[in-house]
Amino acid sequence: MAYVVTEPCIGVKDHACVDVCPVDCFYEGEDHILIHPEECIDCGACVPECPVDAIFDGSDVPEHWKDYIAKNADPFKAGDVPKAVQRDKWEVQKGQEGSVANLYYQKYSKA
Ligand code: SF4
Repeated sequence: MAYVVTEPCIGVKDHACVDVCPVDCFYEGEDHILIHPEECIDCGACVPECPVDAIFDGSDVPEHWKDYIAKNADPFKAGDVPKAVQRDKWEVQKGQEGSVANLYYQKYSKA
């Protein structure tokens, strides 16, 4: 089963996972990064890169975050989802007023 991004990603969106994925299957969800359930090859490379331990094998998601399996898959049924950008680009965007990254941290800041 594909890997899944869970709740700790919300307000963080570090994007380090995006840099290591060999099949480029990370996408920009509204509140957290998404893994495309049909594109993920279950390599596990992204897991140690996540600074908040948000990524799990789909068959090993903690019980209280099981709803994130559907939360990762459903946006793709609803239509096109933008690809997640590499971490260095995301970091630059954070400081650009009105950019996707800038607006994200205004809305989901954990501060
Ligand atoms: Fe990409 Fe591998 Fe992580 Fe799947 S498990 S999202 S293929 S890095």
